[in-house]
Amino acid sequence: LKSLLKDPELLATKAYIGGQWVDGDNGTFDVTNPARGDVIAQVADLSRAQVAGAIAQAEAAQKEWAAMTGKERAVILRRWFDLMVENAADLGAILTAEQGKPLAEAIGEIGYGASFIEFFGEEAKRIYGETIPGHQRDKRITVLKQPIGVAASITPWNFPNAMITRKAAPALAAGCAFVARPAKETPLSAIVMGVLAERAGIPAGVFNVVPSSSASQIGKEFCENPGIRKLTFTGSTEVGRILMKQAADQVMKCSMELGGNAPFIVFDDADLDAAVEGAMMCKFRNNGQTCVCANRIYVQAGVYDEFSAKLKVAVEALNIGDGLTAGTTTGPLINAEAIEKVQEHIDDVLSNGGAVLTGGAAHDLGGTFFQPTVVTGVTQDMKVAQEETFGPLAPLFKFEDEDEVIAMANDTIFGLASYFYAKDLSRVYKVAEALEYGIVGVNTGIISTEVAPFGGIKQSGLGREGSHHGIEDYLEMKYICMSV
Ligand code: ADP
Repeated sequence: LKSLLKDPELLATKAYIGGQWVDGDNGTFDVTNPARGDVIAQVADLSRAQVAGAIAQAEAAQKEWAAMTGKERAVILRRWFDLMVENAADLGAILTAEQGKPLAEAIGEIGYGASFIEFFGEEAKRIYGETIPGHQRDKRITVLKQPIGVAASITPWNFPNAMITRKAAPALAAGCAFVARPAKETPLSAIVMGVLAERAGIPAGVFNVVPSSSASQIGKEFCENPGIRKLTFTGSTEVGRILMKQAADQVMKCSMELGGNAPFIVFDDADLDAAVEGAMMCKFRNNGQTCVCANRIYVQAGVYDEFSAKLKVAVEALNIGDGLTAGTTTGPLINAEAIEKVQEHIDDVLSNGGAVLTGGAAHDLGGTFFQPTVVTGVTQDMKVAQEETFGPLAPLFKFEDEDEVIAMANDTIFGLASYFYAKDLSRVYKVAEALEYGIVGVNTGIISTEVAPFGGIKQSGLGREGSHHGIEDYLEMKYICMSV
């Protein structure tokens, strides 16, 4: 991997704490390339005590960071952003090597990840308070927005760069210090942000990366250490619930980006070619391993056959392979459990009367490669209707009318992203309002951008990331009541 990089120093494997590069008290853990199964790096495995030390360093650094002007922080964040852009090819190669997504997609993620640093760096200057007319003649009321303190993150492997920047950027912009615990599958993309933070001149202790093979130990430290004032998590609803329970003892402010089970609805007045294109991006990007991926594709009866046929053609044109090979559109899945889940959902569809339209089995390439799959005749009682597949499986459900599909789409504990394709304006408005989701894509399959508030309702989470709203998760409001 080092030989692929223009700047081999970007491949760093130690923890970054208080501006120092630190070995792990628990030795190292292996990082493997999911496309080939080979070990590409051995990364510092930190103990819980080392993470406590990192939190202390962050606390010490946070006050001075918060005392800087918004503009001073913005200038430094801008350098961090510029370094990401300059090194995007190397950052992308590191990301592909540990995560598996095609290089073009990985470089795209670096651009997306960087955009949060650019956006929130600018926002650092605009953390406006408020004045409120007093309730008595002698009273003056002022509202200040102040950084919450040290924020800690736990993030998944599916977007190893962007899931960190979209938390760290608003945190740092607000004047918080940050301690990041990356997923053990993909720590390299997090550690390299430490390398760039150091080069950008982010003061020691403001941004820390604490890799560890024991997520639960680090999660406990984050929740129990009084130095942490804010926990921000992206991952499964199951783990989110555990963390919220643990954080309750300190009444800690939490942001939770949890699971999704996105419906993707194609109405009979949709532009079918656009719907197929949207479904392909929405379902097969990152090989189906995103929390906003279409999980259930509902197609109205009148266009069901035509849509299925067009989708089959598009799916069969995907090019499966190693993400570092030119021309690959679809990489491997992250690990063997991911394959099992996809297979389990396919088997369940088949044993309950559904059929495979294309794909349906492991790929000839072996390892964790799987054939992109479309199944038809799927109904609400099947597993895929209730659980997130997180893999390359597009299940097609047939529906008759609007009310029926809205009820089916909302019949889940999740409420992150939803999508539909239609042209009739009143239908568009009605359906957008009726979907119980934090995000609705209308005639588009791609909804992620740093300028909009990303987040879920119901058991998909708490808080929003991106947009001017995103910084609020890292701020406290203080109201000053003055008698004059
Ligand atoms: P997925 O692996 O499907 O993305 P998870 O919720 O299992 O979703 O993992 C998301 C992140 O949470 C990963 O970094 C994982 O290591 C971490 N994690 C898993 N279990 C715990 C736990 N009990 N406490 C804290 N973090 C955890």
